[in-house]
Amino acid sequence: MRTPTRRALPSRLTRDVSRRLSAHAATGGLVVVLLVLTVFSVVTAVANADAAREVEQSAAVAEWSDQAEEGLDRQEELADELVLDPDQEVRSAYDAATAATRNALVQMGTAAGEHEGRFARSLVLHERYGAAVEDLLAAVWLDPAGAEEYEDTLVDPHHEALETLVKEEARQHLAAADTALESMARSQRLLLVATPLLFGVGLVLVGLFAVVLTRSRRATLAQAEENRRQALHDGLTGLPNRTLLAERATAALATTDGDPGPLALMLIDLDRFKEINDTLGHAYGDAVLRAVATRLQDTVRATDTVARLGGDEFAILLPAVAGAEAALELAARAQAAMEGSIEVDGVFLDVDASIGIALADGHGSDVDGLLQNADIAMYVAKERGLGVCVYDDALNDHSPERLGLLGDLRRAIDAGELVLHFQPKVAMPGSAVSGVEALVRWQHPQRGMIPPASFIPLAERTPLIRPLTRYVLSAALEQCARWRAAGRTLTVAVNISARNLLDERFVDDVTELLVRWQVPAGCLELELTESAIMADPDRAQEILTRLADVGITLSIDDFGAGYTSLAHLKGLPVHQLKIDRTFVAEMAADHRDADIVRSIVELGHNLGLTTVAEGIEDQVTWDRLSDLGCDVAQGYFMCRPLPADQLERWFDSVSAPAPA
Ligand code: C2E
Ligand code: MG
Ligand code: MG
Repeated sequence: MRTPTRRALPSRLTRDVSRRLSAHAATGGLVVVLLVLTVFSVVTAVANADAAREVEQSAAVAEWSDQAEEGLDRQEELADELVLDPDQEVRSAYDAATAATRNALVQMGTAAGEHEGRFARSLVLHERYGAAVEDLLAAVWLDPAGAEEYEDTLVDPHHEALETLVKEEARQHLAAADTALESMARSQRLLLVATPLLFGVGLVLVGLFAVVLTRSRRATLAQAEENRRQALHDGLTGLPNRTLLAERATAALATTDGDPGPLALMLIDLDRFKEINDTLGHAYGDAVLRAVATRLQDTVRATDTVARLGGDEFAILLPAVAGAEAALELAARAQAAMEGSIEVDGVFLDVDASIGIALADGHGSDVDGLLQNADIAMYVAKERGLGVCVYDDALNDHSPERLGLLGDLRRAIDAGELVLHFQPKVAMPGSAVSGVEALVRWQHPQRGMIPPASFIPLAERTPLIRPLTRYVLSAALEQCARWRAAGRTLTVAVNISARNLLDERFVDDVTELLVRWQVPAGCLELELTESAIMADPDRAQEILTRLADVGITLSIDDFGAGYTSLAHLKGLPVHQLKIDRTFVAEMAADHRDADIVRSIVELGHNLGLTTVAEGIEDQVTWDRLSDLGCDVAQGYFMCRPLPADQLERWFDSVSAPAPA
């Protein structure tokens, strides 16, 4: 069955993808902003350091250039004095000034670094200037009149060239410092604008990040809530499922603090749903289930819970109901709600439902107990055609002893305590053994051998009958295979219950066991009572047809004791009628029973069915049945049900069965 949640998937996917993209974009954006900020800071810091270095250098160059100029002026001044008066003291002062100028030039060159050979040139010019002064002093001494001209032409040009060079050096460093300062100011201005701007962008991205995070947290919470909802609800109808129903029922029971509270659990099983599903398809079946869900939902109060337990099984939990009468009233309303035809694509479909009710006041103090009791009541309602049935202990005969037995039975199946006895079926009028009927017994460790009548009816009202039948089938086929291997061709008959006919896996189980034990389908007979068939005739018909198609022989057991309508019998794919033992047992003494047996034999033959009489205890009955033309006989007169090994001795004592 399809779930409507699939349609929501693409949009959820798109939302997830866009959320993830936003988160990635916000993270990427933040990283970019931080990177840009870092680059800006580094660039500005480097520019600052450069500018500081440049300023420092230009200051040093300026200072030394001033000193060099001063020294040069002093040198010139003293040279002029020496020209007029070559005094020793002036000479010493001149030499000192020359050394100071040279030192200033060297310092200036060191501070400025070598630029276009200016440092070297300044020293050379200074050297030349000194040499020119010395030449001047010598020339004055020889020709005092030509000194002035000599000074103008040979000394002053060197002085001026050196002075220009020194000034140029200082000017250039000043200009470089200005440029550095300007660039520093520019990057600081940029930083001043960019920092708040980027901070703003970063803040927006952090905000976006927070929004994405919050949204994603909310989405995760919503997803978790949705997952929980899906785990607790049925995908098709959206109703709570079995788990949620159990949760709510447990909570409702807990509020009564162990005191039996006014709680009712209703189990609703649709009667002809499978037919709709099989003939019209699952789309129709799904539409019917959804319509039933809506109708049931509309019937109850907000505090009640309508749940779908699976397939065509629904439940209603009434946490506060006045009593059985009120629950019955609601059940009647639910049935009335389901009565109207459901229209699906122009087809009008009718559904009936059987409802079982269990009340918490003594009908089970836990959810499992209540569910089981509601199930028993529902099954009785279905079996007896009541529509609605309130659980009563009489339905179950759950005496503590029987309850204990039921609990034990679960274990007994696994422990292999169930044993099979086999009763032969003999072909009439001769007495060739045609087959055996497998009849289960419980070899109880404390209570000894328990007959089927003491536990089969109990098991039939619970799902336990399924593993039990499977166990008997498997053991019977295993024995049949063993006999076949030993050369005895026998059919083996196994009794099946109404619940097996409601079990969709039953046919597959049977075929799987036939394959497992390598027994041909023609060697297996299945016996089912009229009431098992009439519990849900349509479903029974469908399962029986599938079994007959496999090649299995089908018998109606205890025929005459139930209420199979002849109309139904006509359409059933059965092969045998097993006349109920009560008529056979009395036929010798009571002519009315004899008449009934004769009528059944005739009816069977007219419908092309084999007739089997069970419960033959004496020769007279055997003879009468033989006269009536009954086909097969079974009874204590021939042989009681026996364990396989004892039966083999019986086989040997009578004429051997037909060879393989
Ligand atoms: P049934 O299928 O009608 O089986 C025949 C019952 O009649 C058997 O009782 C058998 O022992 C008994 N019987 C046979 N011949 C005579 C006779 O001449 N006189 C008398 N008085 N009884 C005779 P059993 O074995 O106690 O089984 C009782 C019922 O339990 C069976 O009736 C069948 O309905 C059910 N049963 C037995 N085994 C299984 C099983 O494996 N699965 C299911 N679902 N039901 C089983
Ligand atoms: Mg039987
Ligand atoms: Mg019978």
